[in-house]
Amino acid sequence: MDSLLQKIYKDISPLIGQGKVADYIPALGAVDSNQFGIAICSNDGEIYTLGDAHKPFSIQSISKVFNLILALELKGEELWTRIGREPSGLPFNSIVQLEYEHGIPKNPFINAGALVVSDVNQSHFASPRIAVREFVKKLSGNPNIQIDKVVADSEFEHKARNASMAYLMQSYGNFNNDVESVLYSYFCNCAITMSCVDLAKAINFLANRGYSNIKKKQVLTKNQTRQVNSLLATSGMYDEAGSFAYKVGLPGKSGVGGGIIAIVPGQFSICVWSPALNDAGNSLAGGAALESMTKHIGWSIY
Ligand code: GLN
Repeated sequence: MDSLLQKIYKDISPLIGQGKVADYIPALGAVDSNQFGIAICSNDGEIYTLGDAHKPFSIQSISKVFNLILALELKGEELWTRIGREPSGLPFNSIVQLEYEHGIPKNPFINAGALVVSDVNQSHFASPRIAVREFVKKLSGNPNIQIDKVVADSEFEHKARNASMAYLMQSYGNFNNDVESVLYSYFCNCAITMSCVDLAKAINFLANRGYSNIKKKQVLTKNQTRQVNSLLATSGMYDEAGSFAYKVGLPGKSGVGGGIIAIVPGQFSICVWSPALNDAGNSLAGGAALESMTKHIGWSIY
């Protein structure tokens, strides 16, 4: 495995730092783009790492996975009356489809969908942001995971676009709680900081038929795990989901902090991180690293 990681690094090192750090959230704009880390967690608990794999970064939209799983535990199939399960084919922060679809977002991994998921969790938890943070602490086995308040506040200050989606959904009756409170919970989830090692461990249950070896618990049923992985495969990379399936061929989820998680069902969970993004808001070197991995060992689900 270490020689595989070295091969990947050799392939992609010229790309590290290429692309653009997400500066629409000013607190993220200051991150050094010349960083790269990767962690692979096997279903029997082995961890393989390279580069900045232990360095915490802003997980951003990767939090949408944890947020969704909490809501699925609460609502089960009923959740899908409020959110679709189709790829959007549009950028993660697009608002246009919401009007055509009468306030029902296309899927839980674009911003509009994650805001509805946050609204569901807001109705249930006294503090949804603490619920999500505690959930990732248990899944990763790292009790020190924090929410970066500077990032959360920076997002809240520049909330106009996400707020407009939430208010539009409210106008269609697809929002039950105070919009501003849900927005702040959503931003706090995005502002959780975790390392590649934390994330590879935390999502391992998705590779392991829903069972977390770290939490020692069945987090999702085998069937729900298959379903979440199918949503990650079709919608986890926004309007690049098709190319990602073509090049990498694994269920995956990205965030504008530069992280990408990927699942090799039955075998491994992976997290790769490099802060500079391509035009779709996905890590440029991170995506290339996963593509190189598929090229070398063919871990595609297809
Ligand atoms: N917090 C970011 C936002 O709401 C998350 C986007 C992302 O990671 N794609 O825009």
